[in-house]
Amino acid sequence: ANTQLSALPTTIFTVMSQLAAQHGAINLGQGFPDTEGPAELVEAARRFLGDGRNQYAPLTGLPELRGAVARANARFYGIEADATRDVVVTSGATEAITACLMAVVDPGDEVVLIEPLYDTYLPVLKMLGAVARCVRLHAPDWLLPEQELRAAFGPKTKAILLNSPMNPTGKVFDARERALIAELVRQHDAYAICDEVYEHLTFEAPHVPLMAEPGMRERTMRIGSAGKTFSLTGWKVGYVTASAALAALVAKAHQILTFCTPPNLQRAVAVGLDMKDGYYERLSGELRARRDQLSEGLHALGFPTLPAGGSYFVVASIDAHAKGRDDVTFCRDLITEAGVAAIPVSAFYDPEGAEPPRNLIRFAFCKREAVLTEALERLGRVF
Ligand code: GLN
Repeated sequence: ANTQLSALPTTIFTVMSQLAAQHGAINLGQGFPDTEGPAELVEAARRFLGDGRNQYAPLTGLPELRGAVARANARFYGIEADATRDVVVTSGATEAITACLMAVVDPGDEVVLIEPLYDTYLPVLKMLGAVARCVRLHAPDWLLPEQELRAAFGPKTKAILLNSPMNPTGKVFDARERALIAELVRQHDAYAICDEVYEHLTFEAPHVPLMAEPGMRERTMRIGSAGKTFSLTGWKVGYVTASAALAALVAKAHQILTFCTPPNLQRAVAVGLDMKDGYYERLSGELRARRDQLSEGLHALGFPTLPAGGSYFVVASIDAHAKGRDDVTFCRDLITEAGVAAIPVSAFYDPEGAEPPRNLIRFAFCKREAVLTEALERLGRVF
């Protein structure tokens, strides 16, 4: 057996979703919406399935979707991208993250990661033989510590992998932090892999990609996900925007990972990306209302929440109710005793690194208003 994979635990999202299902708990753990995405997209996917284009799509994606990704880059961020050379469609952002790492990393290279981190980053890095240099953000503000970030970059740094808006914290990296990261990437002649799956789910200020920083257009691989942008997480359609040279490498990785992505879904996502501004405003407005509903409700029950400017998630402290339990035990008890599932934040740290915080749990608010109300009522019966 492969030593890395045999040591890899089953993802916390599956563990908690299974427990939630077993106990009939409301699942505010794994981040997925409980309503369908836009009817136009689902309808388009159905229609496209029936019109005889069901064989392998081109390796880098259908021209319809590559064109729509290029247009979206220009429309939302003023980033110019060539639809033929600078865009690669992948089977979800998960594949895109792996493909981008494969594109630039050799064994022994160092990659800077920000903790807490999404759970696929480290295992993939390790399997590529790369070395992770983790920089830790600390609650409650999750500010990027400048000196530690500077110290994490060195002669072996090949890339930084940045997730903004960030899972699990909901943090959105601000202009000063983006400028600092860009400065270090340029100074070390490195690359930035930007996991921006929550780019359209921001609540205070619009998302600004690292790619838009001076000198970063050629060094950045920017990843988006239709799953998040259109509330269709099962579709697994992702897209990478990069320089032509980097996109060609990402395409090589994609060639040996999945080769291509279902054509009807690609075409439907292209329709989605071209939807008017009103769609995007409604999406973030609706999620902002759910964030506020859940945060205020949790606060009132003695679970103070940390500020979250984007994503599907809000992190809450369990200090007032933990009674000596760590976040993992607390989440298990929460399912059986309150009938609500959440995710322990300690799962988002390098298992071989320093002790993570054990007093924070993550709730997903990408659910219907009535479902969040019911979850808060259930919590209110216990706390
Ligand atoms: N990204 C989702 C989350 O953080 C989980 C996706 C998955 O289960 N792989 O909840």
